[in-house]
Amino acid sequence: MKVLKFGGTSVGSVESLLNVKKIVESCTEQMIVAVSALGGVTNQLLAMCDMAEAHDAAWEQTLEQVKQRHLDIIDAVCIDGTKEQCRQVIEQFIDGNLRSYYGMLMVNQDLEDVVRSQVRDAIVAHGEIMSSAIVSCMIENAIPHFSPRFIKTRDIEGQRRLDWEATEELVKVEFEGSEEQRVVVQGFIAEDVETGLKTNLGRGGSDYTGAILAAILNASCLEIWTDVDGFMTADPRKDPNATVIPEMTYELAQEMCDAGAKVIYPPTIAPVAGKGIPVWVKNTFNPTAPGTVIK
Ligand code: ASP
Ligand code: MG
Repeated sequence: MKVLKFGGTSVGSVESLLNVKKIVESCTEQMIVAVSALGGVTNQLLAMCDMAEAHDAAWEQTLEQVKQRHLDIIDAVCIDGTKEQCRQVIEQFIDGNLRSYYGMLMVNQDLEDVVRSQVRDAIVAHGEIMSSAIVSCMIENAIPHFSPRFIKTRDIEGQRRLDWEATEELVKVEFEGSEEQRVVVQGFIAEDVETGLKTNLGRGGSDYTGAILAAILNASCLEIWTDVDGFMTADPRKDPNATVIPEMTYELAQEMCDAGAKVIYPPTIAPVAGKGIPVWVKNTFNPTAPGTVIK
């Protein structure tokens, strides 16, 4: 069993989604696919919160654009026979849930900070909820599961942390011994173990979702599919001589992430390093490139 995580750019356009479909459908190993929100959508969902809180009705236009983008993608990539239902699901999330959450932020200017941040968390979870709905309708025989059922966080002294024990137990209940070949889940999103409210693993947290699942289920590897060929010796936009590092240790990858390399979310390394599970960084836009392996 292996875990594949596709980032925002990988699920952000018709072209890239069709690559995702090819990559997944050509693999015969049992797998869990974790997806980010469509590229840019998390930022838009949060920017609309700011607008609504500032009493600026411009969020309505942005929401309409977000909706149209999802609907266009459904038309282009989802399997015939799934499109209508997928469209209805997205419309419900946008015109039902999101519209009322933003309306609530706009009307209730004196919400307590705690409530305001709970509403934001509920809103931001929709990015991955919607992208995973599309990916589930795009991949043949995909079986959707819902990450907040088994990825649990806990607030400790005002700090949100993964509740490893609760998560480990629930991930095993959800997946151990399962014969489902292609599972699709949301990256990033979680649920508070005490309140049952939606939470998340922090910006960039979909990589961490992948690592948590890979470690608990003893996956053969974790593949992080992104928009670069792997870890580079330098930033390729600044240094034309930058090359891909074919192989690196967990220690070096951790150091580079901590120092600000944007390729992987820093908490991702520890759980897979602890189990000795190799992590491949691969390019969705150039899938035959060898990538970087961290081991
Ligand atoms: N969608 C989330 C973000 O933009 C999580 C992720 O992409 O990893 O931060
Ligand atoms: Mg990322």
